[in-house]
Amino acid sequence: MEPNDTSLLQQQLDNRGWRLQFPQALETEFQRDFALRYRTHMQLAMLLGCFALLACGVIDPFWMPEAAGRLWTVRLFVVTPMLALLLLSRGSLGERHMQLIAALASCLAVAGLVGLSINAAEPFNHYYSSAISMVMLVVFVLSRMQFNWGVASAVIMLMTLNVGLFAFSSADLKIITINNFVFFASAAFALVGTFLIERSLRQNYLQSRLLSIQNTDLEGSNLRLQYLTAIDGLTQIANRRSLDMTLTTEWQRALRKREPIGVVMIDVDHFKLFNDTYGHAAGDECLRGVAGALKDFARRPGDLAARYGGEEFVLVLTNATAQQAQIVAERVRDKIVELAIPHQCSSHGSVTASFGVASMVPGADQTGPEALLLAADQALYRAKESGRNRVSVSASGTDSQAVA
Ligand code: GH3
Ligand code: MG
Ligand code: MG
Repeated sequence: MEPNDTSLLQQQLDNRGWRLQFPQALETEFQRDFALRYRTHMQLAMLLGCFALLACGVIDPFWMPEAAGRLWTVRLFVVTPMLALLLLSRGSLGERHMQLIAALASCLAVAGLVGLSINAAEPFNHYYSSAISMVMLVVFVLSRMQFNWGVASAVIMLMTLNVGLFAFSSADLKIITINNFVFFASAAFALVGTFLIERSLRQNYLQSRLLSIQNTDLEGSNLRLQYLTAIDGLTQIANRRSLDMTLTTEWQRALRKREPIGVVMIDVDHFKLFNDTYGHAAGDECLRGVAGALKDFARRPGDLAARYGGEEFVLVLTNATAQQAQIVAERVRDKIVELAIPHQCSSHGSVTASFGVASMVPGADQTGPEALLLAADQALYRAKESGRNRVSVSASGTDSQAVA
């Protein structure tokens, strides 16, 4: 199963059976996530276990001074490997085998308690053996030990307890029985808790995984939507909407900085005839070619090449005087000629375009960027009138608001 397949994740979520196992690929990812998320829980449980084992050693000399020395030896025998396991769990081994490490540590803690109980004096030994239940309940639940590992640990603990009781203690059958009974009862509670916790952690995992996939999908569609609303479908350059937005923003920026803002309006010459001669599909291809040539001239941040509509384009040039914008317009004109798209009805023999250039320093009295576009449009009209395939600069380029 693909771990990112939403329908299969949903199926796993709906199928709330009693099995604590996902299909293999998903299970691997779950275990990786689990180890990352709960490693510190397990380390904390191990640390607390070590602390509890050592702490009671401080009071042993008060209630059974004769056994205190022996008990410290037992403690060091189990706490040393437990601390070693704790150190091991910090590295990459801990990421991969945290469950095993925690299971080993909890078995060691129980073995320690069995050892302490056997070596302690009557009646204090019973406190140590009853602490086994506490270890199981607390460690299993606090450490987020998974059910399978809990069962394996409980079996090892049970064996340790009975080996200790039968082989190394003088406990009679009644004591052994009551110890086993307490062990079974607390193991049952601990394992039911472990099972339920793991089950709900698995459900949470599936839910958060589904949510994060859905979020990613949503982000993807948002980006796609943003793209679709900003880009012209035919030419893949900015559309009229983006042009309006850019012009408004750049106009404001130019106003603040007291800088000129330039626009070049471009109209393909005799394009109706081009369509009539070569067909609409060739017309589309020609528009794509012109757009491609144009977009290379939007170089500075804030510059924009956009399709204004039909066979008309606009180039926004930030911090450009009319003179600078005119130079750019001439270059675009050359570039379009260089495309050499055959056009038999044009006096030039290939596709050409006419250009209207305007530049203004926005001032408080300006209505807005529409005035700039209008000036460029009027200049374009003059370029058409005076023979096409040429650049004309707005007359308002000489008035007080514009920069020539
Ligand atoms: P002028 O030199 O005066 O600009 O003449 P023109 O023929 O280019 O101008 P006119 O406005 O008469 O014609 C523009 C043509 O552009 C008409 C229309 O069919 C064509 N056109 C507009 N949008 C598209 C398009 O997306 N694809 C194609 N193939 N043609 C388009
Ligand atoms: Mg036109
Ligand atoms: Mg035209």
